[in-house]
Amino acid sequence: METGKILLVEDSISQRAFLKSLVSEGGYDVADAENGVKALEYLKEHNTNLPDIVISDIMMPEMDGHELSLMIKKLYPSILIIILTSDTDDDTLIKSFDSGATDYQSKPVKKIELLIRISNLLRIKKAEDTLHLALTKMELLANTDALTGVPNRRHILKELEKAIYTSKRYSLPLSLVEFDIDHFKSVNDHFGHLAGDEVLVKICSFIKQNLRQSDIIGRYGGEEFLIILPNVSIEGAIAVVTKCLDSIKNLSFESAPGRQITFSAGISQYNGQHKLDEFIAIVDSLLYKAKNNGRNRIET
Ligand code: GH3
Ligand code: MG
Ligand code: MG
Ligand code: MG
Repeated sequence: METGKILLVEDSISQRAFLKSLVSEGGYDVADAENGVKALEYLKEHNTNLPDIVISDIMMPEMDGHELSLMIKKLYPSILIIILTSDTDDDTLIKSFDSGATDYQSKPVKKIELLIRISNLLRIKKAEDTLHLALTKMELLANTDALTGVPNRRHILKELEKAIYTSKRYSLPLSLVEFDIDHFKSVNDHFGHLAGDEVLVKICSFIKQNLRQSDIIGRYGGEEFLIILPNVSIEGAIAVVTKCLDSIKNLSFESAPGRQITFSAGISQYNGQHKLDEFIAIVDSLLYKAKNNGRNRIET
């Protein structure tokens, strides 16, 4: 049998007591409320430990079962609802399902019937929760660079798209940095590919430490990264990247002892017009310029 938490909503004291003992006998953890308003208060208070199922009467003072269902579906969409009703006419049933109920139970309630309905819904809910968790995990994996843990190319481009939209919509500044580690191939050549990996991981976390919560670094290619700086002007972006460039030299790497790392960067502020590709092409050519002008430098 599935374990579960149930909230019973019923205005009649005797019905409430009867249902409570019935559901408790099924081995479930049961709370109760006397109408929709009280039920919503309970859910608000137990926000971190919500019931799996709400079983609600329809006719109640203050807020009826249909209104309550609508509110629950809006505020706590993962809760499943069983409507209790003595009218099983078409209109009542349609209204119950339209307001978000997953099942209904006719009155007078037969113990075994209600317990079976509860057990079925809990099985459905468990499957839905597992699926939801798996999807969330998969989405995270699909968006994350496996080595460094920062957003991958796909994800950082999506974030840039959003940042461009926000910048245009609210006329806010937006800066973009593209940086590439200098002579990175020689790290691999001298110390091996795993050492190269360590350098990439460490540089990512170093840069992240120097950014604000709202800034986003993502891996654009092998040893090339993009940094999105929402609400930051070109001056602000130059300041951040200069600070990183100055202090990155002090980083040391266990598997590449004595090796100093520098990078080259192109920085540009969004002009409110360019398409995403055009914006990237600008920082890309600035990065190219920084490489040509001797590396370990910034071009704007
Ligand atoms: P430059 O200053 O012109 O950027 O020179 P560079 O050596 O950094 O650039 P180049 O494009 O010649 O070499 C980049 C190297 O980065 C080659 C590639 O093997 C290495 N690389 C790309 N991704 C990874 C990775 O995930 N791990 C490791 N260890 N190396 C990587
Ligand atoms: Mg009633
Ligand atoms: Mg490089
Ligand atoms: Mg490169």
